[in-house]
Amino acid sequence: QPRIFSGIQPTGHLTLGNYLGAVRRWVQEDQHNADAVFCVVDLHALTVEHDPARMRRLTRQAATLMLAAGLDPDRCTVFVQSHVDEHARLSYLMECTAADGEMRRMIQYKEKVAREQARGRSVRLSLLTYPALMAADILAYGTDEVPVGDDQAQHVELARTLAQRFNQRYGPVFTVPRMTRPQVAARVMNLQDPTSKMGKSHAEAAGIVYLLDEEDVVRKKVMRAVTDSGSEVAYDREAQPGVANLLEVLAACTGGGTPEELAGEYSSYGALKKDTAEAVVEALRPIRARHAQLCADPSYVDGVLRAGAERARGLARPRVNAAYEAVGLLPPS
Ligand code: ATP
Ligand code: MG
Repeated sequence: QPRIFSGIQPTGHLTLGNYLGAVRRWVQEDQHNADAVFCVVDLHALTVEHDPARMRRLTRQAATLMLAAGLDPDRCTVFVQSHVDEHARLSYLMECTAADGEMRRMIQYKEKVAREQARGRSVRLSLLTYPALMAADILAYGTDEVPVGDDQAQHVELARTLAQRFNQRYGPVFTVPRMTRPQVAARVMNLQDPTSKMGKSHAEAAGIVYLLDEEDVVRKKVMRAVTDSGSEVAYDREAQPGVANLLEVLAACTGGGTPEELAGEYSSYGALKKDTAEAVVEALRPIRARHAQLCADPSYVDGVLRAGAERARGLARPRVNAAYEAVGLLPPS
């Protein structure tokens, strides 16, 4: 069975983008087809200014939502990154494998630097080294496949480069992973600004559908989505990004055809928005219901995370120890 690893940061409330780009595939495909490992990557969330109490709440909420969305702890491993020391241990070796310039080239780094500065915040050094930790997350588990949204392509590519470079220098310690992306909705766009990605840490909530939004809020957000100046419903991400985004979301939520095919079924933006709103509401309803149930039983979630961390440690430790030895660090006797 292939090994799959993926994660999500507790930097905000989970969005429809996180679900369609990542979590839904973990639930519907990955946990059934692979030995899959899923992680709330809380150390990554420390790379931008944060509030400790809020982060604690969001970490628990992200884990609860992953289970609510359908991850089955009997089928896959679910845990919190900081509970497994191997991530931080291996991250340092990845920093020693990567070059400074490789980190500075990352698009996400540039975007998040701009955002932190616009908010009058200082930029944490860890924001620059983020891809080293992400490479460690992936490589520690001997990962074959990394199911993520399109925005993570550059980081996964760097993880591949680092795995190859490390293996060349020190011997074959790591599997070289590859990214898998969803067929549709690999990059869900902000409903109010369809040229920018829907991101959970963004401030403008009007264009972001959160998994825990009330149904009427979801409807309102979709109905108020910015469309384009044309009037024809066509799937064209360049010329009509707003409409294309709705078509992708509709296609992903219903499974009833490709965005191109669906475009042919609509003659007005209003009808497209209405159907998209209902499709999103339907897709999120069972998740919200299960989330409410799980919130009533926090000891269940704690138990899942404890067992998950235990298993994850067992999976990661031998490989990380081997990497420490391979670079020439004297093993403790
Ligand atoms: P942040 O703004 O803090 O970076 P985020 O919404 O980008 O938050 P991440 O925790 O960085 O979420 O990413 C979790 C997973 O969700 C990744 O696999 C990422 O590719 C995917 N993802 C994030 N946003 C989208 C989106 N708009 N469309 C599709 N997939 C997405
Ligand atoms: Mg992100």
